[in-house]
Amino acid sequence: MSYEPLFMKGWEKYIKDQSNVKTKNDWIEFRRKWYDEDEKKWPKKTPQQRAEESTKKRGPIKIGGRTLVHVSYPFDLTSEARYELMKTSTEIGLRLVLPNGYHSPQESGDNQGWMQECPYCEIATHEIGDENCPICTRKMIYIWVGD
Ligand SMILES: [Zn+2]
Repeated sequence: MSYEPLFMKGWEKYIKDQSNVKTKNDWIEFRRKWYDEDEKKWPKKTPQQRAEESTKKRGPIKIGGRTLVHVSYPFDLTSEARYELMKTSTEIGLRLVLPNGYHSPQESGDNQGWMQECPYCEIATHEIGDENCPICTRKMIYIWVGD
């Protein structure tokens, strides 16, 4: 049974707090309140879970004309929590922490060095395309992996 973190349990308050994050300091405060303290309690995936994952996650998969690779996050959180955490950290947090950086290939004008990732399904692709995950249809997040 995967862990349900504090921000999922306190969803309404969490979303309200999130909507008030406008500055880097707001973000740091928000992250401390909802993620950093709670993170100490998040269980890591066990060696057995990781072994099962690697059996299930053999090789790249081809869906909708794109090649996707499996990615694995260290914490044993629910898929919903993992997605929410990564999406918010990337789309709100990173933009405030690195306001002058590029946060998508559309902004940088070049697909090189970017991946699209779905933290819910734990898949990612270098083939930048459809915004939505081909498995769960959630909006994928852009990750800069460098060139
Ligand atoms: Zn997905």
